[in-house]
Amino acid sequence: MYHILRCPICTTFGYVDRFQKWKLCPVCGHAYEVVKQPAYLDVADYREAEKIVAEMDKYLHRTKKKDFTAEETEELRHHYANWLRSKV
Ligand SMILES: [Zn+2]
Repeated sequence: MYHILRCPICTTFGYVDRFQKWKLCPVCGHAYEVVKQPAYLDVADYREAEKIVAEMDKYLHRTKKKDFTAEETEELRHHYANWLRSKV
């Protein structure tokens, strides 16, 4: 299981293994505590995490938003759950 979260300094999306306590941001080099950042989504596989992170970046860029709203995060989770179900 991987958590998708965001760097509190430069807002780059990233993901961590659920047992990981610290995340080093590859963009700004800031090390942040995983528990202190809200997880947008939990995914099963790091390859999925990579893809979703890229999609989330694109989405914010396209909509010119700075962050996901609570509804959008909810929708994202819903979307991912549906996608998982459709895979089986
Ligand atoms: Zn950063």
